[in-house]
Amino acid sequence: MALQVVLLGPPASGKGTQGRRLAEALSVDYLGTGALLRELLENGGAQADEIRPILARGGYLPDGLMCGIMAEWLAGHRRGWVLDGFPRSVDQAGFLDSWLGDRGEALDAAVLLDVPKPELVARIDQRVECPSCRWSGRADDRRDGARCPDCGGRAGRRADDRLENFLSRYGEYQRHTVPTIDVYSAAGVLLRCEASDRMDRVAERLEREVRNLTSHGQAT
Ligand SMILES: [Zn+2]
Repeated sequence: MALQVVLLGPPASGKGTQGRRLAEALSVDYLGTGALLRELLENGGAQADEIRPILARGGYLPDGLMCGIMAEWLAGHRRGWVLDGFPRSVDQAGFLDSWLGDRGEALDAAVLLDVPKPELVARIDQRVECPSCRWSGRADDRRDGARCPDCGGRAGRRADDRLENFLSRYGEYQRHTVPTIDVYSAAGVLLRCEASDRMDRVAERLEREVRNLTSHGQAT
């Protein structure tokens, strides 16, 4: 069975790390919208010209543009997925719902990584990223001092980890993503995962809970 899961959560809640691990555990594709948009920029052309100024301002793409990009990605990835960074608004969630509905499918789960704001702020202070494989985590999660635990590359601070940048993204999250979470909750597909714990423990619990949720009454 091809599981189709969206991952929701505030900035710095660990969506990238948890999303990759969950996708690997479920044998489905992982999509981080940040990486996808960077790839589109590198490809150049009219689409790149349209999105470049928006990303340069640190903003999110308008719903119509983002949904168009996603329609293309979804059509090319039919073995199941974990989406990180989409949907980010109620309209985007509506688009995904129709896209799946048109194919007689439905979302298996919307997973919320729940982390209280003071903990997120503390994480911003601690956060490091590997430029080679895009791993990100706490400074303490590195090995041999400054080495990435996944590929052994050098992992350091991210340029965008200033507190003000976080607060602006957190505001966007509250305005647009929190109402989206409410929609999924009302639809009965929300899986709330307490994610303040260590990365490994959250990953194990998350995988177990998604498997439990999706095995009810379905043959896997
Ligand atoms: Zn790495």
